[in-house]
Amino acid sequence: MKVIVVGGTHGNEKLGIDLVYSITKNPIVNVSSIIGNPLATARRTRYVDFDLNRAIKNKEANGHEKLRAQELAKEIDKNDFIIDLHTTTSNMGISIILSKTDTISRQIARLIKNRFKKITIIYSSKLDDKSNFINRLSEHGFVVEVGPCPHNKYRKAQYNAVLNIVNFVAKFEINSKNEDSLPREFLRVKDYVPYNSIDDGFFRRILNQDFMKFPDVDNFVKNTSGKLINLRNCYPIFIGEKSYIETGIAFSICVKEKWNKNENT
Ligand SMILES: [Zn+2]
Repeated sequence: MKVIVVGGTHGNEKLGIDLVYSITKNPIVNVSSIIGNPLATARRTRYVDFDLNRAIKNKEANGHEKLRAQELAKEIDKNDFIIDLHTTTSNMGISIILSKTDTISRQIARLIKNRFKKITIIYSSKLDDKSNFINRLSEHGFVVEVGPCPHNKYRKAQYNAVLNIVNFVAKFEINSKNEDSLPREFLRVKDYVPYNSIDDGFFRRILNQDFMKFPDVDNFVKNTSGKLINLRNCYPIFIGEKSYIETGIAFSICVKEKWNKNENT
């Protein structure tokens, strides 16, 4: 399986950028690597004109990232599996974010969770052809999201954890391993809660507590479309993520689900 590692899809997420440089210097068998957004990386900023990780097959994309998305498509298409590396300012540890419904991506995510334990598998609400994420450019793959990392910084232990994941995927061989023994739990992104629908006290109470479970009582807030949603038994992620401030989003909420046998999503 040919694996491509993309770092610097967001130019201020240094962990993935340094990991790409490292793979260039010290090659890993079956793995190539590429800086997603070299211009934003040089400027140490998330993007130049448009968020590259929302630009794939997106008619609203413009400027530098619109062109870069087309260039990247050609490079990524030569591979079987993409690992798109990101960092978050929120306290999320290491998460694998799937936006694909194929068996291989899901199986590798579960094998990684089985091997490294302290990893959360998150299913994005935007799956496959609805996604504008970079990983849409490959048949298989996912995002690795690491936090907390301030912009342009990371800790060595976080870097090493991601490198272990890359090495694990590089050695993966497609097989018919029985999935029954693999972890079945994952979180599915359900909605997005804006700052203007919660008060400061509430936000401060949950800040840094990504993946905490909201109590088993009704707690209605408005989502980004102004519709009332219930936080009861949901799990917040990306709490206070600095890059989402411009979108007004305070956190995303997930529900916990389990894969059944032979189930793709
Ligand atoms: Zn990112």
